[in-house]
Amino acid sequence: MVVRLSEIEDILVVKGEMDTERFLEAGDSELKAATPVSYELTVRKFDDSVTIEGPVTLDAVLECSRCLDEFTVPLSLNMAVKLAPKSKLSHSPEMELHSDDLDVYYYEGDEIDLDPFIYDEIMLNIPVRPLCREECKGICPRCGKNMNSDPCNCHEAPSSLLGEKLKSFLN
Ligand SMILES: [Zn+2]
Ligand SMILES: [Zn+2]
Repeated sequence: MVVRLSEIEDILVVKGEMDTERFLEAGDSELKAATPVSYELTVRKFDDSVTIEGPVTLDAVLECSRCLDEFTVPLSLNMAVKLAPKSKLSHSPEMELHSDDLDVYYYEGDEIDLDPFIYDEIMLNIPVRPLCREECKGICPRCGKNMNSDPCNCHEAPSSLLGEKLKSFLN
């Protein structure tokens, strides 16, 4: 969704959906979503800076860090970013440091494409080591089987076999 600053009085509420395909096609995305990302963002203009705030929700498809299965998890986050004109960047580098709790980005010209900001916020909020469930059993290090669905038998045997070998070695 692109907003034109010249068309914003003071405040503009943009509600819509974003398809993550666009970012997948760009080739640098790891974001998979089961549903389009929906958002309701309030864009405010103060002098020459712009804030974008509001809820963003999606059903993210994540890969479990233990068993590598894909699972879907609803994510909802509250976006809050502040944009300063790029021309200010060279004049006041300290701006970045005093930005209350908002993340500061820069814009150029009259048009702001909201999608990359929404995308960034989602990526920042995706768990680093997602788990399909708290008690996920993961993958058997020996046979590579997903132990959530079907526990394998190679648990006891090889380790006791190793124990036997070790015993005979020690004797
Ligand atoms: Zn898992
Ligand atoms: Zn196994």
